[in-house]
Amino acid sequence: MASNVALDITSIRKDFPILHQQVNGKPLIYFDNAATSQKPNEVIDAISDYYNRYNSNIHRGAHHLAQLATEAYEDARQTIASHINANVREINFVRGTTEAINLVASTYGRQHVKAGDNIIISEMEHHSNIVPWQMLCEQKGATLRVIPINDTGEIILEKYLELLDEKTKLVSIAYISNALGTEHPVREIIRHAHNKGAVVFIDGAQAIQHKQIDVRELDCDFLGFSGHKAFGPTGIGVLYGKEQLLTAMPPYMGGGEMIKTVSFKGTTYNDLPYKFEAGTPHIEGGIGLGAAFRYMQKIGLENIDAQEQKLLQYATKKIKELPEVTLVGTASKKSSVLSFLVKDIHPYDIGVLLNEQGIAIRTGHHCCQPLMERFNIEGTCRASFAFYNTTEEIDLFLAALQRAIKMLG
Ligand code: PLP
Repeated sequence: MASNVALDITSIRKDFPILHQQVNGKPLIYFDNAATSQKPNEVIDAISDYYNRYNSNIHRGAHHLAQLATEAYEDARQTIASHINANVREINFVRGTTEAINLVASTYGRQHVKAGDNIIISEMEHHSNIVPWQMLCEQKGATLRVIPINDTGEIILEKYLELLDEKTKLVSIAYISNALGTEHPVREIIRHAHNKGAVVFIDGAQAIQHKQIDVRELDCDFLGFSGHKAFGPTGIGVLYGKEQLLTAMPPYMGGGEMIKTVSFKGTTYNDLPYKFEAGTPHIEGGIGLGAAFRYMQKIGLENIDAQEQKLLQYATKKIKELPEVTLVGTASKKSSVLSFLVKDIHPYDIGVLLNEQGIAIRTGHHCCQPLMERFNIEGTCRASFAFYNTTEEIDLFLAALQRAIKMLG
């Protein structure tokens, strides 16, 4: 699809069968897209096609089904590689963002981080982008340094520059915050880290489905993302790494596929990307993820982003008219996440009452407890939009929210 065209949302919604159902007697309004996205028919069909026609283990198979499955799996890798402007050796299939981060922490991290070094993250990271680095720092006697954020939910860049030094080995930062929607200035963050000789991991879990990412232009050293947040299956994701870094890294897990030769005298490891793909992979997951990327390309990331920005602006303006509501996270650059509090009402109670009206939002700490601590709150209500959502759904959500406030107030 050409870029910058208004999407035909009615027709797009037909691609997502799950959206057409009633929940508690009301049409489902799905505003929990930051937790996981819904899947278009193309993805569902690609998975069922694999099971219906060519289910087989991949690589080294002489027979027809194995060849079909291998081709489809490797095609998916190629689709994803081209999409982010990487080469296929740089696309490692993993379970998701969490595994991508753990892989880098356990390989590159263990190899390069020494006692006295430091790793930098931000106060706004998902637990998956905190705990693996914390564990690595504990093992190595290194320090985890945390970039503070301001009251609008933006990283304070000057503080980042103060934290960066020659002992910084790694900076790991989300492109977009799942809890507040803030888009971080990742290009600047990467440039400054590189000036100090540190490598940068970009947590792309909330970015790959909203933005056209070009890893060469971005110049990140690693990028991780999860298929299920990008209209693909669960249990599959990608770790991108610059080829020279991946080549020099030790393997993560041992087993089949990641070996070249095995003998009791010693084992030699396979070439990229198989070196990091031990065991039978998530074959239908990879194939489904390839279909999800082709679907995003068909709609166009620019069109997706434009529609979601329209929804975000509409919802932000309207929700600000409710005196009981306080927005948490008002950064100038945001993706389609609306985090909010309602007076002294517990977010969970709001979530339950909205569910009774067919509306799915998420409540709680969103796996960002340090961020909640920063704002001195336990959690928020979070509505997160995808391009298949509509302004009519936002109106219904706000009306339902007002009813909930009345009941609880
Ligand atoms: N990082 C961010 C910013 C996320 O939003 C999430 C999931 O919500 C993750 C990491 C972890 O992703 P997964 O659970 O798919 O591994």
